[in-house]
Amino acid sequence: MFGYGLYGENVGNYIRKPMCECTGEEIMTELLYHLNMLDIRDELLAHTYVSTCMMPYITSQFMPRKVTDRPKNVPDGCTNIAFLSQYVEVPDDVVFTVEMSVRTGMEGVYKLTGLEKDVPEVYPSRYDIRYTIERMKKFAGLPIYDKISLDDLPNIDPKEIGNLKQTIVNLVNAIPPYYHMYLGRDQTVPLKTSALHPQAPQSK
Ligand SMILES: Cc1cc2nc3c(=O)[nH]c(=O)nc-3n(C[C@H](O)[C@H](O)[C@H](O)COP(=O)(O)OP(=O)(O)OC[C@H]3O[C@@H](n4cnc5c(N)ncnc54)[C@H](O)[C@@H]3O)c2cc1C
Repeated sequence: MFGYGLYGENVGNYIRKPMCECTGEEIMTELLYHLNMLDIRDELLAHTYVSTCMMPYITSQFMPRKVTDRPKNVPDGCTNIAFLSQYVEVPDDVVFTVEMSVRTGMEGVYKLTGLEKDVPEVYPSRYDIRYTIERMKKFAGLPIYDKISLDDLPNIDPKEIGNLKQTIVNLVNAIPPYYHMYLGRDQTVPLKTSALHPQAPQSK
């Protein structure tokens, strides 16, 4: 398990010390307190190894920022310089990922050399109902590109919900599946039913 404490200077609720002064055992104990699982503390600590590490620069990646605080991947007008990795402003992208480092590297090379290739687009999972529905189906063990039916819903007392079930089915089925991402060199993608983006494979 990898855990990360954003406010390492705050005193714990159970271990009355800041996280940055705690041993691994104390951090685990504080975590178990918050999970209401202190009863298994001794048993758990007996076979757990905790490695602690201070990574103060990581928080800097998550700090609030204005769009002008970080350079663009290729600043306007530049023909021979590009900025790479986590401190570049990329619309909608998320820091702290290998993906962002790779994307900015690719985009820098493609733009400066004039290569007519698409970089992998940013996965727009946030607030996208199509993505949410896809995940919901996946977690329910359903095929993500098929319509759902009443049988796929959990059993609920019909007296309580009336026509609500059909309403839910209609709502879910009204949303198209998410289009294929990372099209790569597969030029047949537009022929596939799952590729709904109108501009695929040139979509951005
Ligand atoms: C604990 C942890 C967990 C993570 N988990 C995930 C995860 O699950 N999924 C995910 O996508 N991302 C994760 N990340 C983030 C991801 O690892 C980084 O965003 C990514 O590795 C950054 O890659 P990079 O090549 O841009 O930079 P780096 O990998 O930091 O490479 C920069 C390189 O430049 C070198 N360097 C620095 N200064 C100089 C200099 N003056 N001269 C020469 N070389 C120099 C450094 O030594 C380093 O090798 C995690 C990061 C951490 C720390």
